[in-house]
Amino acid sequence: MLQPAAIDGLAFARTAGVLKGRLGMETLPRLAQSGCTGAVLDFVLTGEINERGKPGFRLMVEGSVRLECQRCLGKMDWPLRLEARLELASDEAEIQAADDDIERVVADSDMSVAILVEDEVILALPMIPKHEQCKAAAGAEGGPNKPSAFQALAALKKRNLSES
Ligand SMILES: [Zn+2]
Repeated sequence: MLQPAAIDGLAFARTAGVLKGRLGMETLPRLAQSGCTGAVLDFVLTGEINERGKPGFRLMVEGSVRLECQRCLGKMDWPLRLEARLELASDEAEIQAADDDIERVVADSDMSVAILVEDEVILALPMIPKHEQCKAAAGAEGGPNKPSAFQALAALKKRNLSES
């Protein structure tokens, strides 16, 4: 796999640089920490001067991330496709002071592309990943009207109470 480069943020934006690549788990340590066990992410990073006259990036990421379903704890491959726009800020204070919805990063002459991509992917992932059709979901066996063991027990208790 291509080792992701670092870019000079402002120069990349001003020259409308284009960088394409593919990232795997070995370059995505925070994703690994968050329970993701596999990922292949293709990205295209483009430098731009946006309509506000500010330097920034456009980022497109497409790929798949392997997560753990929080219902059945099985593996699930989460298809990912995102597009983000980032504006470069001169420092953290500028980001804090900004009062709008524009996403910003501090410009640096040595910005890791993998970190930029990873940031956006983390934002795009579900808080609680679950299979859309999870085998552990109620109704997966015997249809949605089948009472669970717990419900059956509750009904039994109720009947005993009314008999006594
Ligand atoms: Zn599941």
